[in-house]
Amino acid sequence: MSIGYIRRNVEDILKEIPSHVKLVAAAKTRSPEEVLEVISCGIKAIGENYVQDTVKAFEVIKHSAEWHFIGHLQKNKIKKAVEIFDVIETVDSIELAGNIQEKCCQINKIMKVFIEINSGREPQKFGVFPENAVELIKAISKLNYVKVEGLMTMGPYSGDPETARPYFSETKKLFDEIKTKSLRNVDMKYLSMGMTNSYKVAISEGANIVRIGTKIFGERK
Ligand SMILES: *Cc1c(COP(=O)(O)O)cnc(C)c1O
Repeated sequence: MSIGYIRRNVEDILKEIPSHVKLVAAAKTRSPEEVLEVISCGIKAIGENYVQDTVKAFEVIKHSAEWHFIGHLQKNKIKKAVEIFDVIETVDSIELAGNIQEKCCQINKIMKVFIEINSGREPQKFGVFPENAVELIKAISKLNYVKVEGLMTMGPYSGDPETARPYFSETKKLFDEIKTKSLRNVDMKYLSMGMTNSYKVAISEGANIVRIGTKIFGERK
């Protein structure tokens, strides 16, 4: 199967987004060949939801891309995850951060993490509620092998990207608030929000990382 469309899709997106915005290719269900293709198109960061699926692609691609974990991290996958990933975007509890710390300590690696914000306060979803984020970050800031570098949010899903705008806007406010606190061991650099249907809205609300899958690779089967 030809994958030439990937190049056109990536070019279209890169033309559209400002240069300060990092494009993370969300690669769940895609083959290592498809992932290699996006890297050859100039994408420098790959987002993965499943540690096990990443192992195969990582064997081929190694550190020629920056690996972002964007799924829900299960405890028994943390050891492997800290070996592979450069950033874990979905830390939402002190327990998870502590488990990452323990595994990182064993291999002497400082893990960059983002705090996942449940901006829609949806009970069935992962992420810390906005009002609890500062307390969580203060607790994590005591861990020497974990470094908080940003926030990530999904926002409630609906067909209309405008629905997500107030949630992106609230997450940006929280991002700015945490930045002004100058917490030790916390460097608020990245705000990861927006997917295929919502990345334009997310950028207009201050995202500097967008995670795009479908618009790069096509519909998932
Ligand atoms: C799949 C996924 C994306 C990308 O979604 P698309 O709609 O395919 O662009 C972004 N972020 C996370 C956390 C995802 O799981």
